[in-house]
Amino acid sequence: MTNAPLILIVEDDPKILAVLVVSLEAEGYRLQLTGNLRDALTQAQARQPDLVLLDLGLPDGDGLTLIPKLRSFSSAPILVLSARGREVDKIAALDLGADDFVAKPFFAGELHARMRAGLRRVRPVGTVVTFGEVSVDCENRSVRRSGEEVHMTPTEFKLLTTLIGNPGKVLTQRFLLNAVWGPQNLDQAQYLRVYMTQLRRKLEKDPARPTYLRTETGVGYRFTFDVI
Ligand code: CA
Repeated sequence: MTNAPLILIVEDDPKILAVLVVSLEAEGYRLQLTGNLRDALTQAQARQPDLVLLDLGLPDGDGLTLIPKLRSFSSAPILVLSARGREVDKIAALDLGADDFVAKPFFAGELHARMRAGLRRVRPVGTVVTFGEVSVDCENRSVRRSGEEVHMTPTEFKLLTTLIGNPGKVLTQRFLLNAVWGPQNLDQAQYLRVYMTQLRRKLEKDPARPTYLRTETGVGYRFTFDVI
């Protein structure tokens, strides 16, 4: 299984580590293990893992500090293992360049799904992105649903293309507000709510239970075509 993805696990709790090792080895992943930040950085530089699972509370410091260091040489997805309800940590991790988070205690199925989504993630390089019955032509700035043209305002289109340009990644409210409305509007969370509602009404089968344009409660939004 030499082609299996290499996963770097940064976790100091031996019980959690044991659970991770058993469940990820069963999935066929190759694993690198470490329980502290310094060693994590050395290992990541030496072996260039395909994905990093990162605990935040580590004996030699806060896992958040590792994220920008990893990002300086690696684009591998970083999944933060965070305590449930710590939205502040999740937002900080995402803003520093993490891709996603899994709340502890986690279900193996959910963890595996998020890891697969991260590993499969390929940023769209073509000009047309298709999901379900929707296709978005980024170059000609047109959106079709079941072949019918869907009218989009420039702001709706910008929000949509920002989301679909980062498939599977959780984007914080702050990131989206900055990308679409600019740095002077970082506290205008209501803009996002209004525009997400409009996009869902135009693109989702059931706007109240969106399949593609998901809410990450208290954190932000995620575009996905994976079942998570
Ligand atoms: Ca810990």
